[in-house]
Amino acid sequence: MTSDTPDLTVSALARGQHSQARGLVYRPYWWDAAPRATSTQSPRAVCDVAIVGSGFTGLSAALTLVRNGRSVVVLERNEPGFGASTRNGGQIGSGNQKFRVKRLIDLRGRKKAEAMLREGVQMLDYIAHLVAAENIDCHFVRCGRFRAAVRPEHYDAMARDMDDLRKLIGVESHMVQRAEQHSEIGSDAFFGGSVLPGDASLHPGLYHAGLMRRIEEAGGQIVGGAAVQAIHVDGAGFSVKTARGDVVCRNVIIATNGYTDGLVPELGRRIVPIGSGLIATGEIPEQTFARLMPKNRVYGNTNRVFYYFRAAPDARRVIWGGRVGRFASNTSPAAFRHLARDLLHVFPDLADVPVTHAWDGMIGYTYDEVPHLGRTARGIHYAIGYCGTGVSRATYFGNKIALQLIGDSAGTTAFDDLAFPSFPAHPVAKQAVPFFEAWYRVRDATNL
Ligand SMILES: Cc1cc2nc3c(=O)[nH]c(=O)nc-3n(C[C@H](O)[C@H](O)[C@H](O)COP(=O)(O)OP(=O)(O)OC[C@H]3O[C@@H](n4cnc5c(N)ncnc54)[C@H](O)[C@@H]3O)c2cc1C
Repeated sequence: MTSDTPDLTVSALARGQHSQARGLVYRPYWWDAAPRATSTQSPRAVCDVAIVGSGFTGLSAALTLVRNGRSVVVLERNEPGFGASTRNGGQIGSGNQKFRVKRLIDLRGRKKAEAMLREGVQMLDYIAHLVAAENIDCHFVRCGRFRAAVRPEHYDAMARDMDDLRKLIGVESHMVQRAEQHSEIGSDAFFGGSVLPGDASLHPGLYHAGLMRRIEEAGGQIVGGAAVQAIHVDGAGFSVKTARGDVVCRNVIIATNGYTDGLVPELGRRIVPIGSGLIATGEIPEQTFARLMPKNRVYGNTNRVFYYFRAAPDARRVIWGGRVGRFASNTSPAAFRHLARDLLHVFPDLADVPVTHAWDGMIGYTYDEVPHLGRTARGIHYAIGYCGTGVSRATYFGNKIALQLIGDSAGTTAFDDLAFPSFPAHPVAKQAVPFFEAWYRVRDATNL
């Protein structure tokens, strides 16, 4: 049995008929086209900047630095790209939908909210620019996003919010009523939805591989198996202790997001990791596919604990994501059963389609649900906390933190002066994630 001939269908997974799961591969679909490579080298002993973490934040920072003549070593605990950056859904937005516009204004004031929302749009434009400028072949496309309303009230609230977004910063969008929603999605599970035509998608594995290639071509080094164990201030710079040898450098950037641990305790206290899981289906017949996703956009819904989906860019497969399975190992089908159930609810026609891949990864949540970048009291730079919307934001923040590090005024952002709150009772907050999630699911189900 190979991954091409699994015998687990969407309905079998949804019903918990796990004995049929022999063909399921517990690995990101994206790794088929962009496999992880094991590093054999040791890090250079001396460099200008050591970067901890080899996801989009770390690589984007590295690329900016090497293009500005700095020597860079990216240090990664696992294989390069092990974290969320090659595990995500590849849906690209501005991050602006994290808060309703009115709520963001209430929280931050009108001027700051406007600046943050404007910069959200710039993040989306920046990744588009970078992919084109660096000529990275990763299926980047401005496909647009359809966000499906789970309840009629959600449709009305979304319409008001889209209106606010247009009035405040000119973002174009349109609403699609339930009666017309088959022009967007071949499902009756929703009450209409909104379309943001400027949102985009890419193949995360190929994007990551392309960034790595450009950095290495420019002389930067990316080393896997090099877990950073300690960072000591050393004269005017730092000494970084890794599992593969020490690195002496002028500056350090922490780019560990959902995989942030106690390495820099003041950052560890500010991030709660939350899991997210995905499945990929096998190939879907052309006519069915055209009916279910007629405009081939990226899709999501309006629940607090939401699911998101899209087609793979290189095949007529569905990539379906949502919350992570809590009480089963991530190499057991039980951990992904709820994703198949949701998929079946939206697309009952896909009951007999095989499920080929299942995987998960860690999102980095902050207390105020806003990403943060800056410098610790010891002078360590960081960019973390994308709260599940990080393809564009990590790329953008990586660039900004690198520019700040070299003293380029183009590194200024609207996020610079935001206080970065710790989680109250951080260890408890980490353990409490499943309970909060369960509570939010109850609220989604009952519209509390
Ligand atoms: C399942 C899933 C689906 C998602 N879907 C989307 C989506 O569709 N759209 C979107 O915009 N965002 C999505 N996201 C979020 C997005 O993927 C992340 O915000 C983004 O990739 C974060 O990039 P990063 O470089 O900051 O962190 P990561 O890519 O997570 O990289 C951090 C790296 O740091 C390494 N590390 C940690 N500690 C150390 C140490 N001490 N020494 C060395 N290395 C260390 C880790 O091994 C890891 O590889 C998703 C996330 C997940 C998990």
